[in-house]
Order: sequence, then structure tokens, then C-alpha cells
Amino acid sequence: MSDNENNRHDSDVLIAGAGPVGQVLALLLSQHGLRVSVVERWAQPYPLPRAVAMSHDVQRVLRQLGLGEELAEMIEPWGLDGHRFVVQDASGRTLAESGVTLDSESGLANMSGFSQPELEQLLERRVQADPRIEQHRGFTLESLSDDGSGVTATIRAHTGLAPVPGGELRTLRAAYAVGCDGANSTVRSLLGLEMTDLGFDRDWLVVDVVPHTPPTWLPFACQRLGPARPTTLVPAGPGRRRWEFMIMPTDDQDDVDTPENAWRLLEPWGIHRDNAELVRQARYTFRGRWVTEWRRGRVVLAGDAAHQMPPFMGQGFNSGIRDAANLAWRLALLVEGMGRESLLDDYAAERGTQVAQIVEQTVLIGQMFCMTDPEECARRDAGLKSLAHLNVQEESQNWLLRGGTLQDDGIGGSLGLQATVGTKTRTALLDEIITPPCFVLLGRDSDPLDRLSPAMQADWQRLGGRSAYFGLGGLTDTEGKYAPWFERLNASIVVIRPDFQVFGGVLDPSTTDGLVQGLAERVLTDNCPGMPTSDRSETLATKD
Ligand SMILES: Cc1cc2nc3c(=O)[nH]c(=O)nc-3n(C[C@H](O)[C@H](O)[C@H](O)COP(=O)(O)OP(=O)(O)OC[C@H]3O[C@@H](n4cnc5c(N)ncnc54)[C@H](O)[C@@H]3O)c2cc1C
Repeated sequence: MSDNENNRHDSDVLIAGAGPVGQVLALLLSQHGLRVSVVERWAQPYPLPRAVAMSHDVQRVLRQLGLGEELAEMIEPWGLDGHRFVVQDASGRTLAESGVTLDSESGLANMSGFSQPELEQLLERRVQADPRIEQHRGFTLESLSDDGSGVTATIRAHTGLAPVPGGELRTLRAAYAVGCDGANSTVRSLLGLEMTDLGFDRDWLVVDVVPHTPPTWLPFACQRLGPARPTTLVPAGPGRRRWEFMIMPTDDQDDVDTPENAWRLLEPWGIHRDNAELVRQARYTFRGRWVTEWRRGRVVLAGDAAHQMPPFMGQGFNSGIRDAANLAWRLALLVEGMGRESLLDDYAAERGTQVAQIVEQTVLIGQMFCMTDPEECARRDAGLKSLAHLNVQEESQNWLLRGGTLQDDGIGGSLGLQATVGTKTRTALLDEIITPPCFVLLGRDSDPLDRLSPAMQADWQRLGGRSAYFGLGGLTDTEGKYAPWFERLNASIVVIRPDFQVFGGVLDPSTTDGLVQGLAERVLTDNCPGMPTSDRSETLATKD
């Protein structure tokens, strides 16, 4: 191919895999104005339940895509009255319990139950209706090469379980490629990327049920511990329940994932054919591993392609959507020719450290939940009993560790608060006022834009940033949550990134220039070509 042909791209970003992570990333990139190709081997979204727990920050990402109304109808907030998480010993006696936290720093339920197939159908409708996204469903990615100025992929027609021998072959070229192709990622294997594996490898039977009437005798969420048969019970979206039964060596391995076995295991919980419908039962191996290299050249990994973890903390899907949110604005800046190449290394560093920490925590919990040695179990149960009251959901999953595209000031890396604010014309959650997602300078009591020198104003405009502040002529802190938040951060001005993470902040407003300069140095390339396509730099609430 000549240089000219090399630089002709069918799309800005090629995404392999149309699971939830690929679809959300495609929609986010389109929101930034990018053209996207999505390659997916199956003709339809995967129809069976998988993830059931959606974190508040992930809900925020989906709401920013304009999915809020439909999402509200398909999720069930956790943490209402009577919602408790119970840990039981093998005989069903409560060892410890915890309330379920309702509040979060996103102004939304900390966790909500949902059905992954319903969400995937919603994402699919949006993707199909989006003129900037071209889907190649029924095609499998076969090869991928990166020549430094773009990536070239070949994809082959795929039906049933395999590519069609001699079937239609298409060649696609894009500026960047993202492997969102799940746990057995083709992109990961084509690149020969290694994984750090914690060696956790347990088979469980995952059973999804729709009870005919609410099963009021069951705990809201429960972990029944071994030695007999470790079992997890969780709500799985409106009207649904999920059981996860550890598969024991004494089980008849040929019979374990049959409907008959599922009903047999459900019987002691008071669930049977007369009072519930069995949606599915599937044997599933819980693993703890993540890719050591998230990025090679113009190819990046996200979602299950980059990490897998046991579902005990409900963080697999959530981590994948966080990957997509963290990556989308970086790719947008790179495609626009304004971003530094190091943005993708920062992606790898930020997501890599957070994911490794979550997988390690989940595996530790998994090791405790999967114990079957009677003596070890007795010691563990005694320890848990002495705790009696757990606080299972207090710890935020949203902190990004040091490094990456963050200011190292003890503020950078936290999740930006979302609460209700008032403008001249309406009252709404902050993300609904600042939409679409962009860099935001948020001031405690004065307009941060007034503090910027002309040079930094220009950089702020290149970044497509907006500003907002509380006080006269600005936003109203309707719920009174922002004042204490600024107090806690010991800041009067903060920069929030398009993925809602705080870049950093300053206490003295006269140092705002340095804050924006720090951001520009980490994000913008030295030879930035003029202004962004959309000049969004403005102050909110003076206009709204
Ligand atoms: C039983 C179970 C329970 C779970 N529970 C939870 C939970 O409670 N909470 C949670 O957060 N997570 C949970 N998870 C994890 C969650 O479902 C996954 O993290 C999530 O589906 C990952 O999304 P993804 O888009 O990265 O990958 P996937 O959903 O796996 O999508 C990858 C896509 O890539 C396609 N693909 C693969 N190779 C190719 C190729 N060569 N060419 C073209 N297309 C290709 C596949 O067909 C697939 O559609 C659970 C998972 C399972 C299995």
C-alpha cells in the first residue's frame, strides 16, 4: 500500500467485540464525533444473563449517553429499607450482616440490579441508530496489523460456532483499534499479550430464576459459606434472583449444569417449579487475571479482554465500562490530532493499577468464600462472628491511583461529585447540566475561567473545556453537598475529566493557571493543530 492508501481510514476507531464494553465505547466515541467500526461474530447480542450489579459511576456513564430514561425502567436500586447482605454458616445461621449503602458520590444508588441482556439490547438499538457507527455483525476478526500510522484488520463471515470457510473477507482500516472481544480475546492473542494470573480457578453453577411472586422468605443478598456447598444469592434486576452454587468434587460432573440439578439445588431455598421460572443454568469458571500490557502501539484492550475476576464484588462488567469511559476521551483527542501519545500509556497505568487491586481483593474474598476444609471453615466462621457487623459496600471502587493523567495532589484520581444543582432555569444533577461529557473547571465560589491567562484560556478551549461555579451568577448548591465536598478536598477549584474523575485541584484560585497548565502538559501534544472542531469553552449558568 502507498502512504496515501495507508492513511485512508474507513473509520477512526475499530472495535473488536460488541459486548457491553464495545458498544458503550462505540457510543462514547460517536458522542465525541468519531467514526467507529464494530466487528462482532454473533448476529445478535448475547441473550443469557451475566452481570447483575451496576455501580453508580457506570450508571453515570450510561446516563451521559442519553440512556437514562430506559435505564431507569430496567434497574433496581439496592439499599432500600430491609435490604441487607447476610453471611451465613453452612447450616444457614447468620454469622454477620450489613446494611446495603444506598447513597453514592454520584447522586445515584451505589449499586443497582440489572439484567445484562436487556442492557445489551438497549445498547444495540442505539448503536444501530447511530450514523457514525458501522457494525459488521456476523464477522469474526482474523488478523490485525499496526504500521504506525493506522491499523488494518481482516474480518471473515461467521455463522454458528465458526468462521465460514472461504466466506466473505473484508479489510478494514482505522487510526486505532480496541479489543473488547471478551475473556478469550482474539486481539490479545494476535498481539501475544501475557496475563498476570492469580491462580484462582473455581467452577460454579450460576442459576437465574424469576420467582412468580416476591420470595419474601429469602434474604435480599446472602453468602452461605462452606464446608458443605458455598452458595451466593443476589438480586438480579427487577423480579429476578441469582444463585451461584460452587461445584464440588463429589458432584456428578455430567449432570451438574442440567435444569434438574439446578432445581435440586434451589429446593432447600424454597424455590421450585411451581413458584418460579428457571431462566438459565450455566457452569462458569471464576478466574482472577489481568493483562500485563494493555496497549501496544495503536491497539488497546478493554473489558474482559483485559481482565477477568470472580463475580463476588460485582466488578467485572463495571470495570469494563470504566475502561471505556477512561479510554474514549483519550482516543478522541488523539484522532483530532491534539492528544499526546502518552495518553494511552496513562490509560494502561490508571486502569491497570485499579483493576489489579480490585481483582486481588475479589480473589481474597473468593478464597474465603470457597473454603471447604472443615477446620479452616470453623476458624473463618469464628472470625466473622466476632465482626458481626460488616460494612461491605463502603469502600469506593472509583479511586485511580497515582500516575496517569492526574495531578499528584491527593485529589487527582477521586470521582467527581454529582449532586443536584440549580441554574437560572432548572434544577438537575450536575452531569445533566454539563452534557456531553467534557473537561470541567468547577469553582467553589467564583468563575475559574476569570483566573486563566490568555495562553491557558487557549489551551482550555483546545481541550473543549467548560467551566461552572457556585455562587452569584453561577450554580446553586441545591442539596448543600458541594460546599462540604470542596472542604474535604481542601480545594476551591477542581478540574474534572470527561470520565468524571478529578484531575486535580487548587485551594488558592490565583493558581488556577498552573492547574490547567499541568493538565495541558499531560494531555495536549506540543504541536496542537489550532482549535477543536467544537468550541465548547464557556461558563455554565450565566447562559443556562
Ligand atoms: C455468570 C457471570 C456472571 C457475571 N456477573 C457479573 C456481575 O454481577 N457484575 C459484573 O460487573 N460483571 C459480571 N460478570 C462479568 C460480565 O458479564 C463481563 O465482565 C462483561 O460481559 C464483559 O463485557 P465485555 O464487553 O468486555 O465482553 P463480552 O460481553 O464477553 O463481549 C465480547 C464480545 O466479543 C465478541 N468476540 C470475541 N472474539 C471475537 C472475534 N474474534 N471477532 C469478533 N467478535 C468477537 C464476542 O462474541 C462477544 O460478543 C459476569 C459474567 C458471567 C459469565
